[in-house]
Parts: sequence; structure tokens; C-alpha cells
Amino acid sequence: MDISVRPAVVKAEETLDPDDWSGIQTLSHQVIDDAVGYLRNVRERPVWQDMPDQVRAVFDAPLPKTPAPIADVYREVSATVMSYPMGNIHPRFWSWYMGSSNFTGALGDFLAAIQGSNLGGGNHAAALMDQQVVNWCKEMLGFPASASGTLVSGGSMANIIGLTVARNVKAGIDVREHGVAAIKKPLRFYGSDQLHSCHRKAMEALGLGNLALRRIATDADLRIDLAALRAAIAEDRAAGFQPACVIGTAGTVNTGAVDDLQGLAALAAEEGLWFHVDGCIGALIAIAPENAWRVAGIEYADSVALDPHKWLHAPFEVGCALVRDASAHRNTFAVTPEYLEMTSRGLASANWLHEYGLQTSRGFRALKVWMSLKEHGVLKFGRLIDKNIGQGHFLNDLIEAEPLLELVATTSINIVCYRYRPDGFSGERLKALNTEIMLRLQEEGTASISDTTVRGEHCLRVAVNNHRTRQEDLDLLVRETLALGSRIANGN
Ligand SMILES: *Cc1c(COP(=O)(O)O)cnc(C)c1O
Repeated sequence: MDISVRPAVVKAEETLDPDDWSGIQTLSHQVIDDAVGYLRNVRERPVWQDMPDQVRAVFDAPLPKTPAPIADVYREVSATVMSYPMGNIHPRFWSWYMGSSNFTGALGDFLAAIQGSNLGGGNHAAALMDQQVVNWCKEMLGFPASASGTLVSGGSMANIIGLTVARNVKAGIDVREHGVAAIKKPLRFYGSDQLHSCHRKAMEALGLGNLALRRIATDADLRIDLAALRAAIAEDRAAGFQPACVIGTAGTVNTGAVDDLQGLAALAAEEGLWFHVDGCIGALIAIAPENAWRVAGIEYADSVALDPHKWLHAPFEVGCALVRDASAHRNTFAVTPEYLEMTSRGLASANWLHEYGLQTSRGFRALKVWMSLKEHGVLKFGRLIDKNIGQGHFLNDLIEAEPLLELVATTSINIVCYRYRPDGFSGERLKALNTEIMLRLQEEGTASISDTTVRGEHCLRVAVNNHRTRQEDLDLLVRETLALGSRIANGN
């Protein structure tokens, strides 16, 4: 072909690949060396520190138009992002409820990004691994192999997946076609008054509304009261509602209470309700030999949400929804447009993974979970869960032994709710005192804990979901709480 008649396509055939491959190799080695040091020395650094103004200012910089050497870009990231973390990989981070990540998982995320595969589906190895990790999740919980599941961003999304299937199965009409307005008897969902806030968001997003989610009273240990649940269901039936789904919580976010899952499974079967378990905290206790009894019954659920980025310490994000009835799951989400038709051979000849959730493009979340499970084996993850639960009870006992400290809720697993309570302090003054203890622990970089309110009582809250925590760290927390409490109560 005469070269002079070819169309002029582009000026220069630019790509995003490095101009200097050996330079990027050297820098990458540096990044890895720094990352190893970062993790190895995490215990020596403060848990958290607030950012100086010049660091904050970096994040107001405008959109860059021209190039910068990658070594400079990395230096800036080191000095800003890497130097001012949230702190949840630190051994004394116990706020809210998170995992503490792990190096192998981070390598998994890196390799997944290098391959760059889209897990919307298709006939390739990453898609098979995604399904394998889902199968391993089923196995860990004692779910049947015929169940289906999907990896999602986290527990909130996993709960939405389960509750969406529940709504569609129990609606009595084709909700996908006709919408919630066509449902004849309004659906009712049930959960305890300790439910995580994501269920409210789910009810709102599903078009059922917050009021369709009845919060049932809890017993002295903050577990759902089955008699109260039964009464609410009967009352709703009599009033013309359609009881549709009960949500059991395996590990509440406030106190770690585990609902009676066997009792709930039996009740749901009797009443013809969908049984969903929010197991974001506690589903994986099923792999912990000393504590698995606490979540017995989870294997009877119609759907479960679990969170590998919590007790498997996978780097964020990865959650998992499991659904017993695989066809109900697929029928809730599958849409096959003309541009996604399957073929009998080739890349499009496998199951589309996007048919089990709301996303189309999906990240390769499985690799970080798969690599850590392979490296350590599931038995070790079970022992780590037992260790954290043991540490929760150890802290519970330390607090009980201190006259100036008070437990505010029963310790069930690895969440401890307590407060510093000197004579003469109550109500708002007591809350202000404990809030100040929490803030100083954070600001001094000693430990990160959070707070909550249980049955109207404000308290400090420690969630030991951390594979790096040692007993000495919990001793230190108690010592520091006492020291700060006494200082603040005396006006300093
Ligand atoms: C963490 C948590 C969630 C939400 O999970 P994310 O992974 O944060 O989206 C839901 N329920 C409970 C009980 C949780 O602890």
C-alpha cells in the first residue's frame, strides 16, 4: 500500500506507559521497600494525628495540566496521604468497626490493578477466582454449594442485595416490571432496635420506606426479643400488612450482641418470612472454633451479608452477599442487553457476574482475599477471631476490676462499652468527660476509640477487630483512660 494515501490518524501515538521502564522499576522497588517499612514500624507511630495546614493545602491544589516526574508525585503522596492516615492498621485502633488490612492483601490489590480485569464477567481466570472466593464464603458459613453469591463493595451493599431479593420474592407481584406501587399489601420487614443504619438506607432505596422496617425491642443483652417479634408480626397481619422479612444481626455495631439465629430461623420458617442475616461483624465467627456456637443457625438464612474487609482484614473494599436460592438471586438483577449477549465459545461464554448485583463493571476484589486465605489458611483466620473475642473479654475484666470504670453493656464478642465514672458525675457532665477522654486519646495518638449511646447511656466503645492488638495495648488503654479521666475531672 502506498503510504502517502493512508489517513493521518494521530499526531503522536502517546500512551500512559512509562517512557523509562527501568526508572519506573527502580521507583517501584522503593515504593515496596517503603511499604514494608511502613507496616513493620506501624506500632512505633501515633495511631492518628491531625494534619498541619500546609498538608491540608495540598488538597486544594488545582487540576494539573502538565506532567510531573513520577518520583515527585510519589514523594508528595508519602508526605501527605501516607503520613496522615486514618490509623486503622495500627494495633491500638479500635474505633467503629473496621479491619486492619494486611500486606499480602495489598499485593493482591496491586496485582489485580496491574491485570486490570473487569469482573463484570466473562471467560477468564479472575472471573473464576471471584466465584471461588464466593464459594469459600459459602463453605465458611456452612451454606449449601447450590447457593449463589456476589462480591460487592462492603456490608451495606451486601445487605441491599439480600433485602432486594427478599422484597422481590415476597412482593406477590412482579416488582421489577410494575414497581413497589403495585404491591397489594404493604410489605413489612423486621429487625432489632440495634440494626445497623444501612438497613434504613436499604428500605428507603428499595422504595418501601423507613416505616416499613419495624424495630423490635431487645432483651437485657440487646438481642432481638422473639416474643415481641411474634407479637409485631401478628399485629401487622391483623392490620392488613404483609410480613415479608426478618433481619437477624450476628454482632450488632453498638455492642456486638448476636441475635438468636436458630430461634429466628425457626420463627421465619413458621411465619413464611424471608430470613436475612446481617453478619457484617459476626458471620465469620463461624470459622472460629471456640466461638462458632454463637452464630449457630446462620446456615439456615435465606441470605447473608458478610464483610471480608472486617474480620478477614482484606484491604477495603470487599463485602459478600450470599443467597440460598440462586435463581431468586439472579431473577432479581439479571438484565441482558443486546451488547452483552453470551456466546458459546470465546471470552463471552461464561456466566455474567454482573447479573447478581447492581454494578456492571466490577473490580477484581477476590484476589486480595484469595491470596491471604491461601497464605495463612482459614484455620488461622478462625484463631485470630477467637483471639479478638478473648481480648474483648480480657478488657471487660480489666474494666470490671477498676472501681472508677463502669461497663455500660454486656460484652458478647469483641466490642466493649464502658465509661469513666467518678463520684458526682452524671448526665451531660459525664458524657462531656468521657468525650474529652476519647478525643485526647485520639489527639495524643495513643489509641483510637469511638463512642455510642446504649439505652440512653453514653459510653466509650472499643471494637477489637485487629490482628495486631496485644494484651499490653489493652492494659495501656485502661491506664490511659484512668489517667486522663482523673486529670480532666480535676479540671486539666
Ligand atoms: C460494618 C457494618 C455494616 C456495613 O458494612 P460496610 O462494609 O461498612 O458497608 C452493616 N452492618 C453491620 C452490623 C456492620 O457492622
